[in-house]
Amino acid sequence: MNPKWNGQFSCFDLVAQTGACAPVVVRVGNVEIGGGDFVVMAGPCAVESEGQLMRTAEAVVAAGARILRGGAYKPRSSPYAFQGLGIEGLKLLRKAREATGLAIVTEAMSEEDVDLVAEYADLMQVGTRSMENYALLEKLGGCGRPVLLKRGMTATLEEFLRSAQVIAMAMPRITNGNPQIVLCERGIRTFETATRNTLDIAAVPVLKTVSRLPVIVDPSHAAGVRSLVPVLARAAAVVGADGLLVEVHPAPDKAMSDGEQSLTLPQFHDMMDDLEPYLAIRDAARQPVPQLAVVGGND
Ligand code: PEP
Ligand code: MN
Repeated sequence: MNPKWNGQFSCFDLVAQTGACAPVVVRVGNVEIGGGDFVVMAGPCAVESEGQLMRTAEAVVAAGARILRGGAYKPRSSPYAFQGLGIEGLKLLRKAREATGLAIVTEAMSEEDVDLVAEYADLMQVGTRSMENYALLEKLGGCGRPVLLKRGMTATLEEFLRSAQVIAMAMPRITNGNPQIVLCERGIRTFETATRNTLDIAAVPVLKTVSRLPVIVDPSHAAGVRSLVPVLARAAAVVGADGLLVEVHPAPDKAMSDGEQSLTLPQFHDMMDDLEPYLAIRDAARQPVPQLAVVGGND
């Protein structure tokens, strides 16, 4: 390992890779993340209606997704935008789980919502805007569910792992020293405007090297446009990600949020099919992540 990284991250002892510890496997319902499988989570940005959610859930499970995503509480950039269905959305997610067997990932935006969301979700999402909301992170650590932590859009990897450490410190001992946290690279804000965010693809092998936690990629919020999503998903597979979080909608042009970056149901099916050779490359690698050489003297 690059000694610089070691010094930078080893203080986050519950989540850092210290050499002797095995990678963490996160259990979400009957799905294991970080155990070798490439786990795809897919679904609409926001839960809008029973028809929209059920159609999407049935299509994504048929295409190979293991976890259904859908926001019931939406952190929107504009205060005038749709804020989500709240508890009605959670109930629809539960219904979709019963119909398809998919586990559910959904966001809790404030500490007051955590107990309620935890009754319905199998995996608790922390959005990019909440990555440094420590009161929320501490509450999530104690809620008894695994946590999907998205990288803050202006956060360094050090800050990202610091937030993971905050959650891990609040996690009860039943995790047996294996904090049930999945990291999600979802693009960061840079000077580039051609994409909504800049997918920091190097974050995946760096995080896989310096931390014990599984790492997934959200190509949808990184790209901002649906045409780029499949190719970024391939890149994620090849660099050794443990899975994806992808937005899918039966009628993206009518979506109440993030329609431009949502795949149609057939496009999601094609994306999954087309991933296969890239997953074979990932699985054929002798180690999931290349050993990163110690490099010295670079600026
Ligand atoms: C989302 O997953 O729909 C979302 C709001 O993501 P982010 O927090 O990464 O913007
Ligand atoms: Mn979204």
